[in-house]
Order: sequence, then C-alpha cells, then structure tokens
Amino acid sequence: MPMTVGAETDFLSLTLSELEQELASLKLPKFRAKQIFEWLHVKRVVSFGEMTNLPEKLREELSLKYALKSLKVLQKRVSKRGDTVKYLYELSDGQAIETVFMQFKDRNSLCISSQVGCRMGCTFCASGVGGLVRNLAPSEMLLQVYETLRLNQLSTVNCPLSTVNIVIMGIGEPLDNFDNVLRFLELSPIGARHISLSTCGIVPQIDKLAEHKLGITLSVSLHAACDEDRSAIMPINRAYPLSELMRACRDYFEATRRRISFEYALIEGVNDSSEQAGRLAGLLRGELPPHAFHVNLIPVNDTGAGFRKSVNGKAFAEMLESRKINATIRRTMGDDINAACGQLRKEVRSQASRALSGCAEVKPLQWLDRS
Ligand code: SAH
Repeated sequence: MPMTVGAETDFLSLTLSELEQELASLKLPKFRAKQIFEWLHVKRVVSFGEMTNLPEKLREELSLKYALKSLKVLQKRVSKRGDTVKYLYELSDGQAIETVFMQFKDRNSLCISSQVGCRMGCTFCASGVGGLVRNLAPSEMLLQVYETLRLNQLSTVNCPLSTVNIVIMGIGEPLDNFDNVLRFLELSPIGARHISLSTCGIVPQIDKLAEHKLGITLSVSLHAACDEDRSAIMPINRAYPLSELMRACRDYFEATRRRISFEYALIEGVNDSSEQAGRLAGLLRGELPPHAFHVNLIPVNDTGAGFRKSVNGKAFAEMLESRKINATIRRTMGDDINAACGQLRKEVRSQASRALSGCAEVKPLQWLDRS
C-alpha cells in the first residue's frame, strides 16, 4: 500500500485527505496540504525546494523528512520521423519500465506501464518475458506522465491537459494491479475521457471496473475470435473464455455507455484469414450493438518470438466493413524504436544477461538521444 509513515511515505500516491492527515501529524494546517497537492499534481515540481509558497523552513523540514519518488531516464529512443519517443525509466529500486510519448498535430499521447513485467503470458508480447516483478505504485504511473511531459518542455501553460491522452497500454496488465490503477485514475489531473485502459480480459476485474462507472475507454485485447485460437496465444482465455469476456463487455457498455475498443493484432497464419475475419464479425455482431464497439487492427510487432506481420490486413478490414463493423487499421508508430510493449526492456534485459554470461556478441544500441 502506498501509505506508510515518515521517510517512506509516498507523497505522490496520497489523496488530498490522506495528505492532510499526514501533515496534521506535523501540526500543519489543511491549506498546506492543498498547496503541496497542487505543486505535485498541477505544477508538477520534483522537489519540496521548488514549492515557493511554503516557508523556507518548512521546505527544508519536508525535504529532510520525506523523499519524493522520481524516475531516471535510463535510455531514450526517438523514431526516425521524430513523432514517437520511447523512454526506459529506472525506478527507485532499480527496476525498469517503459513509457511511449507520441506527438500528433493537436494532441499528445502517452502510453504508460502499470507493472514491472507481466504474468499474463501472451505469446506474442515481450512484456511477460521474465514474468511479473512487481506492481507499480500510483505515484510511479503518475510520474511517467509528469516526467515525460516535463522532459518535452510541456507545462500546464503550453500544453492544456485537455490535449493530453493517456493509454494504460504499456508493460503490465492494469487490471492485475487494480487498486493502484484506480488510485492513479483518481489522482490523475487528466480527465477520465482522455484515458484508455487496455486489458487482456480478466473478467471479474472488468466487472469491478464497470461498478465504478468511470468515463475511461476500455480497450480489450481480443486478437482471436474463437476460444481455440485465443487460448493458443493468450493463456487468460483458458480462465475466462470468450463467452464470459463478451458478457463482461456487454455489461461494461451497459453500465458506462462508453464504446469499447477491441484490439486485434494481425499475425500471419495465426489469426488473419478471411474465415477468421468472418468469425470476428459474427462474434462481435452477435454479442454487442454496433454502436457499442470499435475494432483496432494492429500489424503485429515482431518481438523475436516468430510472429510475423500479416499481409492480409486490407482484406481483413474489408471483410469487417462488409459486415458493417467499425474498424481501423492503426498506423504503426515507432516500429524502428521497438515501441511495442516491453520490447525495449526485454532488449536491455537480454543484453545485460548476455553481457553477464560473457558473450562477446552484444550489439551496441543505436541511441538517438536528443535530450
Ligand atoms: N495487458 C494489457 C496492456 C498491455 S499490452 C493488454 O493485454 O491489453 C498493450 C497492447 O499491445 C495489447 O493489446 C497487446 O495485446 C498488444 N501487444 C503486445 N505485444 C504486441 C506485439 N508484439 N504486436 C502488436 N501488439 C502487441
């Protein structure tokens, strides 16, 4: 839990009322908590020293008593087009996570991680290599947003938060870290309507999320339209098969009226035939009203596990369209910088282990550090 006492208190994970309680133990009035909360979450400073409307003595006292969590840039990669930047951040315990920053004409989008590693075991995904290490604290998810905006010189002045989108689609399964993700959503200065959460389909947690009736967009990683195909690439399907997942999606839509986004990574010879497109159309049309969902077709990223991009994307999309299904082939950004989930962390991990085992064939990384 984020709440601990003294030096270990994770300030950035505290709600305003928890911050008030913490500061009450130092005999500080409530308005100080409000000031500090604003410095942390609105002005997004990284030290107590910058909180200039606090008396200097108090700033010193807080700096001595508490340590604010921070992220360190381990590596940064910029795509050739310059519109996608991937950061490998180091956490205070030395673990590494990824954050992807994408710049569009009129908005910025941040893809953040929710766990160190992942235990869901999707066969095409690099995030699960090495399994789950630990959950991220709410502060560590917030910091990915705050630090990435700061590194790109984006403040509340030149970058209104209404132009920032967050997708919880980086390393980890957000619904496997439910409480911390919920608190992140509560603390985030970016409104729910600008946040998407992507899940592999942990049905009881989708039900739990629906109860909160948040305005966020739910993305469901589907990737196959029958249990046999889906269980072969996504072990979660063996626990929660498609009939249960679709029921949860229907209930989620009923509870929130938010359109669900289904992610479908097209993998050559695995899930990309016309027959499979027909099955996908049948599944979705059979379970949900047409206005309740959208399908995102994504060319699979080769993470070294032997999955190749499909060449059938256009025909697949046309088949869905002919069945009146709203589908888009998503533009792949940052292919050249290993921007798919977990790829960079995996690459760095495997380089480190090859280096440790004395193998001389460690290729140098092609860094394009523009900082
Ligand atoms: N655990 C969550 C969020 C993290 S993965 C989930 O499963 O949704 C984010 C998205 O990237 C998911 O849709 C996931 O299936 C997809 N993904 C993972 N590896 C991929 C790859 N190699 N190519 C394309 N998409 C991938």
